[in-house]
Amino acid sequence: METTNDKGLALVETYYKDYGCQARAMKKAGKRAMGYISAVAPVEIINAAGFTPVRIKGDPNEAVTKAYSSMETLVCPFLLNAFDLALKGKYDYLDGIVIPHTCDSVSRTYEVWKRNFPLPYYHFLNVPHLDGAPSLAFFTQILKTFIKSLEQFTGNGISEKNLAHAVLAYNELRQAMRDLYDLRKPDQPLISGIEMIKLLVAVKALPVDESAALVRQVTEEVKGRTISSPQKPLRIMLVGDQIDDTGLIEIIEKTGAQVVMDDVSVGSKLYYADIETTSDPVYGIAEYYLEKVSLPTFYRDRGGSYDENLELRFGHLKRFISEFNVDAVILLVYKNCDPYGFEVPATISYIESLGKPVFYVEDEYSSSSSSRLKTRIEAFLEMFTQERR
Ligand code: SF4
Repeated sequence: METTNDKGLALVETYYKDYGCQARAMKKAGKRAMGYISAVAPVEIINAAGFTPVRIKGDPNEAVTKAYSSMETLVCPFLLNAFDLALKGKYDYLDGIVIPHTCDSVSRTYEVWKRNFPLPYYHFLNVPHLDGAPSLAFFTQILKTFIKSLEQFTGNGISEKNLAHAVLAYNELRQAMRDLYDLRKPDQPLISGIEMIKLLVAVKALPVDESAALVRQVTEEVKGRTISSPQKPLRIMLVGDQIDDTGLIEIIEKTGAQVVMDDVSVGSKLYYADIETTSDPVYGIAEYYLEKVSLPTFYRDRGGSYDENLELRFGHLKRFISEFNVDAVILLVYKNCDPYGFEVPATISYIESLGKPVFYVEDEYSSSSSSRLKTRIEAFLEMFTQERR
């Protein structure tokens, strides 16, 4: 159902610029699309129920004009922006929205979404905030309730076979994505940070098979590149939550530095572990979202010393820094984002203990602050480059 003959990065550009265009076209052709917020909505279950999952995103280039009348201003600016887009018709093709209990901004605005942006289906997913066996048993039951609710809505059963098939399909996408991430490891990465974020965003509104095919196409396309520049770029890792726009990465890459890795919730957080293919796919899905997706909305405290606890929460950053040969980290937290905000001191001290500098910035989800951001990031990268000489 592609609307153009483009492939690979050209197709990524189309999907990035007109986010959701494919899901909208599929809806016109009689298929269904389900919106969801945050990284912990189980897309495997949404897919098994016959929907194309569409991650709700905002647009930092779009001024918020409608949302203030029904959503309080102290909320996360990303969420406010996304809600504003919904009120302006950006998501009018959706059959419903799934809102998981992650941060307060997401969970406390469930009613606001439901009342002001009415759709045939809404579901609040009660995600626990502690890991461990009791939470896992609880979350498995919560997912079964979610499955029942989707079955009631569609009138169709969701079989274990359908769920197992969806798990395999998403695991294939994760593998394809990891293979592509590997091409960022060389001294001259074969794909830029800008291209990568566009792809990461594009696949969030596509059926999973199309997503995996698109990632493979891009991988083949960039593998054929030869980059002859003698200058090795400064290698940056980007850390944050819903960074789903090229703005910040353009600022970084225009300085000659390159984003070679991320720990963001539309990126590697979702691709660096697979769902265990167990005889109970629902349990495997619960375990994945509870134990393997690293978000600050979960408490992962299994006793032990403070250092052991830090390893549990941030050990993946150490691996990324080593494997992707990261020189410096940029940590972006949106205003009013408590979960990431509370993690800032620990995140910075952990990364600095590895000998890597961190540039921390708190910002709006808006391109209106980009000039200010540009000056600060350029100064940080310039200072760091001079220190290295
Ligand atoms: S950026 Fe922070 S406040 Fe906003 S949705 Fe994500 S976790 Fe919640």
